[in-house]
Amino acid sequence: MATPDKYSDLKPVSAFNAALHSKCPKCRKGDMFKSGGLGIFSQKMYTYCPYCHFQFEMEPGYFYVAMFVSYGMIVAEMITVAIGTFTFTHSESPWLYIGLLLGVTFILSPFNYRYSRIILLYWLTPKLHYDPERAKKPYDEL
Ligand SMILES: [Zn+2]
Repeated sequence: MATPDKYSDLKPVSAFNAALHSKCPKCRKGDMFKSGGLGIFSQKMYTYCPYCHFQFEMEPGYFYVAMFVSYGMIVAEMITVAIGTFTFTHSESPWLYIGLLLGVTFILSPFNYRYSRIILLYWLTPKLHYDPERAKKPYDEL
């Protein structure tokens, strides 16, 4: 009879999965946003990770850098939509492009806001790494 693996829940979640579900980059267990996993329409962010008490805004104004990430994301999205529009319609009307690009920017802004911060913390902050020790127990049980 196989013994139950008591460490199975200690197996680390992949960085991609944790980022997709907006989990804390330090423990990959606590939510970064109050609306949890994939609910991107409420953008209230926790100050500290509810699981390991990591402070998300590591320095005052740290998330200003996320503006540049968000800028890069918007440029990539606009280029994709513009090329896609041209490929499918072969239109040369500037109004079609202006309308579509502004619409896409507006519709994707909650997504860009959330994932620019997540990308910044997961992949653009060299001193911030996953810490398996922090994932073992919630901070209030230590
Ligand atoms: Zn955490």
